[in-house]
Amino acid sequence: MTPAEVIARKRDGLSHEPAEIEALVRGATDGSWAPEQLAAWLMAAYLNGLDEEETATLTLAMAASGERLDLSSLPRPAVDKHSTGGIGDKTTLVLLPLLAACGLCAVKMSGRGLGITGGTIDKLESIPGFRTDLSPPELLAQAARIGLALAEPTLSLAPADKTLYALRDVTATVGSIPLITASILSKKIAGGAPAVVLDVKCGSGAFMKDLEAARRLRGSLERVGERAGLRVRALITAMDRPLGRVVGNALEVAEAVDTLRGGGPSDLRALALRFAAEALVLAGLAPTLEGAAESAERALARGRAAEIAQTWIEAQGGDPNVLLRPDRVLPRAPVEAVLAADRPGWIAAADAGRIGTVAMGLGAGRVRRGDPIDPAVGILLERTVGDPVEVGQPLARVYARSEERARAALEPLGAAFALTDEPIAFAPLILDDGREPGQSPGGSK
Ligand code: URA
Repeated sequence: MTPAEVIARKRDGLSHEPAEIEALVRGATDGSWAPEQLAAWLMAAYLNGLDEEETATLTLAMAASGERLDLSSLPRPAVDKHSTGGIGDKTTLVLLPLLAACGLCAVKMSGRGLGITGGTIDKLESIPGFRTDLSPPELLAQAARIGLALAEPTLSLAPADKTLYALRDVTATVGSIPLITASILSKKIAGGAPAVVLDVKCGSGAFMKDLEAARRLRGSLERVGERAGLRVRALITAMDRPLGRVVGNALEVAEAVDTLRGGGPSDLRALALRFAAEALVLAGLAPTLEGAAESAERALARGRAAEIAQTWIEAQGGDPNVLLRPDRVLPRAPVEAVLAADRPGWIAAADAGRIGTVAMGLGAGRVRRGDPIDPAVGILLERTVGDPVEVGQPLARVYARSEERARAALEPLGAAFALTDEPIAFAPLILDDGREPGQSPGGSK
């Protein structure tokens, strides 16, 4: 079948045979399909959809389009983690050492931030000396030795996704649940772990703005993952406000360190513990979520996760003192400015999308791929959703390179906050975990 015939089938709303999807993915990988043919198919798929079988075939073909990491030699069960991206989301920095402390091997390929969402690689690079370019043998050796490793991919993992994603970006076809599912899962399959926990962020600072769309994505990721032979647990979590209290690379590392040492903001701590528990159940190391949660709590409380984090940072060339004195090790921008409340009340909103945009304007994020970022700038939320505030009390603090940039940030930052006269209802962190109320894996409540 020619590319035009394959495109015509999807244009006409028909289902593809696996061989047609495999031909398309080959075409995206070896260049034998022209970009305009790929783009036409993407639009047809966007408009007419792909069923689960087609999405699973696309996922597997994209995963097989390049190299794959083989984790079968690791001494302990391997797990991976992925977030669809949010503001202040430093969960991976806490979760990976926690997983290693609980007896799993966490091997993760991470990306850099683009637009308002941050990237784990950028955050870790704010630690002086930290290397993110580990080769596959280095990744495997380190994960076998200390239980975790994280790098920016040096392998060509799922190259078909790279081509297709770049086309989706410029043809208004990113927001398709089957295409997002195949894009995320193909990279996870190529990353080699048989089990993955996924954080589907939902809200103004996330890709998925509304709960219904996030639910469809969550279900698609779990069901297509299962068809593709990957064990997946996906939770929908709140991204209407930033996660934790800080946004900005070095600030986020410091907050993750605090959390590993038993402090830190309650939402970050709760999310890391929950994903650790889900991963332990998924990997078969704990029969119930409750038992898994207790193991994770113990690993955090006894300092085991913090010890592993210190070993990890040192193993990848970073200054391990960051676990002891983050204030001495991490860069901090020279200018500080305070946003104060101009009325009393309760904070009803601290809009993640707006706060992310302000942080990007300060230099914490990049507008285009390859732009430099400034690890030392960012925002500290002195108060967040649900907190009371009096007139003149600080809502947030800005860390900037210059007085001018600090001043420019204050007005749009102020617009991110909404205050009410009455206390506001509790805003849940986990919006949907896909379980019926009272349902827990392993049958216990
Ligand atoms: N993240 C991905 O990796 N792919 C998508 O398509 C969307 C978000």
